[in-house]
Amino acid sequence: MSNQSQNENSKTSPNLANVKIVLVNTSDCRNIGSAARAMKTMGLSQLVLVDPIEMPNGQAQALAAGATDVLANVQVVKTLEEAITECGLVVGTSARSRTLPWPMLEPRNCGEKLIQEVTDYPVALVFGRESSGLTNEELQLCHFHVQIPANPEYSSLNLAMAVQTLSYEVRMAYLAAENAVFAEKADDEEYPIVEETERMFQHFEDALKATGFIVPSHPGLVMTKLRRFINRARPDSKEVKMWRGILSSVEKTAKRLAEKDDK
Ligand code: SAH
Repeated sequence: MSNQSQNENSKTSPNLANVKIVLVNTSDCRNIGSAARAMKTMGLSQLVLVDPIEMPNGQAQALAAGATDVLANVQVVKTLEEAITECGLVVGTSARSRTLPWPMLEPRNCGEKLIQEVTDYPVALVFGRESSGLTNEELQLCHFHVQIPANPEYSSLNLAMAVQTLSYEVRMAYLAAENAVFAEKADDEEYPIVEETERMFQHFEDALKATGFIVPSHPGLVMTKLRRFINRARPDSKEVKMWRGILSSVEKTAKRLAEKDDK
């Protein structure tokens, strides 16, 4: 693989380990445990706690369930600045619109943006205190804000559930990006030109006549149905070549059997 294509590949494969979930000043460590579980189910692993009021204890572990590894690897820092210092993109979350106008993202675009940029540098999603969310100063450290468009009459989700919802969007964007890489690869497959496909269909017809499956006087709809079927499968050039090989072997066998019968 050339260096260039290696770079291109790494560019198109986002690494979820570089998506940080930052919880600021969390007061109930059970929320930290639940957030760890929410993250792991969506493939995220980097949890950063900014000045937690209560460090994760047994209760947090219990709520983390199978995600105790996320808790074990938790990074604890004193300030939000410290948590996001290496990040190229920081998105702050808020349950309500603030008086402070700031570039906003929908949860879906938020997932997409984080995944688009995580190929270049670590990115962060920042969550606030259970009681009062993020301060204006903290929100101003973020490039964008995201709000889950919940019931306007009751819009404040439990902290861990907000982590779950936004981590899910990150995952959806990640899977879409992976599929795009996959689709790109599939597109790299060379498709045959019509001339080659037509030669294959002619070959099918000849071989099926040789075996007696198509009776020239009553050909029926065999070739039409076969065309529809093969068209649906959209064979690439290599697959068309393989079919030509299969058909040649069928023709050879039919010919040998016909010669035997003649004797
Ligand atoms: N009373 C606080 C709500 C805090 S909820 C307030 O009014 O700001 C705790 C955290 O969960 C929030 O700081 C935010 O990070 C997240 N959260 C809860 N509901 C949210 C929503 N609708 N959209 C985005 N984040 C939300």
